[in-house]
Amino acid sequence: MRVSGNKTGERQAAGEAAPQAAMGRYAALPMNDNATGKEANVSGGEVELIDLVKAFGPMRAVNQINLHIPGGEFFSLLGSSGCGKTTTLRMIAGFERPTSGQILLDGVDMTATPPHRRHVNTVFQSYALFPHLNVFDNVAFGLRRQKIEAREVDRRVAEALELVQLTQFAKRKPIQMSGGQQQRVALARALVLKPSVLLLDEPLGALDARLRKQLQVELKTLQQQVGITFVYVTHDQEEALTMSDRIAIMSNGHIEQIASPQEMYEAPATVFVADFLGVSNLMEAHAAGGGTINGSGTRIRIGQYELLAGHGQAPGGNTKATIRPERVRLEPGNAPGGENRIPGQVERWVYLGNAVQLIVKLATGHTIQALMHNDGEEIPFAPGSSVQAYLPPGALRVLTDTGVRLASEIAATE
Ligand code: ATP
Repeated sequence: MRVSGNKTGERQAAGEAAPQAAMGRYAALPMNDNATGKEANVSGGEVELIDLVKAFGPMRAVNQINLHIPGGEFFSLLGSSGCGKTTTLRMIAGFERPTSGQILLDGVDMTATPPHRRHVNTVFQSYALFPHLNVFDNVAFGLRRQKIEAREVDRRVAEALELVQLTQFAKRKPIQMSGGQQQRVALARALVLKPSVLLLDEPLGALDARLRKQLQVELKTLQQQVGITFVYVTHDQEEALTMSDRIAIMSNGHIEQIASPQEMYEAPATVFVADFLGVSNLMEAHAAGGGTINGSGTRIRIGQYELLAGHGQAPGGNTKATIRPERVRLEPGNAPGGENRIPGQVERWVYLGNAVQLIVKLATGHTIQALMHNDGEEIPFAPGSSVQAYLPPGALRVLTDTGVRLASEIAATE
């Protein structure tokens, strides 16, 4: 899937105008070449991967991916363990040499350029701070190595510490700080070098759930403040949905779909994505002959029931249909039937606080979930009651099955 095609003009617009406008005080300082300390051109942070492959022996960890990230975007690579996220990130950083394909940064081929010559910096899950140095000196380290003048170092470190709200911790050693604070130091240390692109490899992975949530918000705010491109690797879908402008969902070294969080959730392109992101009800279906969708939807059969799926694309024949639990509507079993309804029985409830999840066994043999908002009204479908599940055409989607093993299937066998 190639999601590129930007012309130079668009590149400049995406890479220069938007981020620079957002950078505020941060923009006032010159960009520095990581290696030489010499001022380099301020660049836009555009990343392009073309037919990128990384093989380890016979195994392709990254299998021909194409990706275009405009400057200033918060872009996440999301997928389960081993799908190739970190390898992709390491190739962008320059730590890993691609087997084939190209990496372009701001339109320039960097495939063979060593890490320190790229306008890119990385933040790792393990903060990798120097334990014997205090916060200030940790952040100043890279600048001093570049032989930047002392007064300039002071100014830039102060600015970076202010960005991550650690000004008052400058004299502390890493051991005297919490995990979240240490990760902020690592961020400041990366940002102080003014990269065009910041690569983040599960940076919140070592933190507890509460702190993760707090730092997710802070990271997103920070990214908007500095306006540089963030490429963020995570296996946590909530994290990716919360922070990203766009997400690429990866499996087995390739990209299944690239979309905004909302589009990814509302309009998954493949069975894999629907299964991976959130809870989806996946049902085997048979699409009517011809099968591709027209303006009014596709006729499908689920078991012996004929339904209209208003979205998605699938060739005729066996396929999968999906609907999110919050879009399933339950009606009493004795209500008059109608289009897109399948009878069933409520098996059990799961109380979630703000909602109740009802597990419903359909007459087709599928078990689906229906989510009912807890608005204080009594839920009239006790376990054991007969219901009709109304699957509105506007919420029912047919999907392409790329044949990749689903995350739920892998979880069930582990
Ligand atoms: P995780 O979230 O667990 O880090 P990931 O999606 O980042 O997973 P990668 O670290 O990119 O996955 O690994 C992709 C595949 O490549 C895995 O099967 C991994 O075992 C393999 N792999 C990664 N690095 C090497 C290496 N240096 N040598 C051999 N195989 C490797």
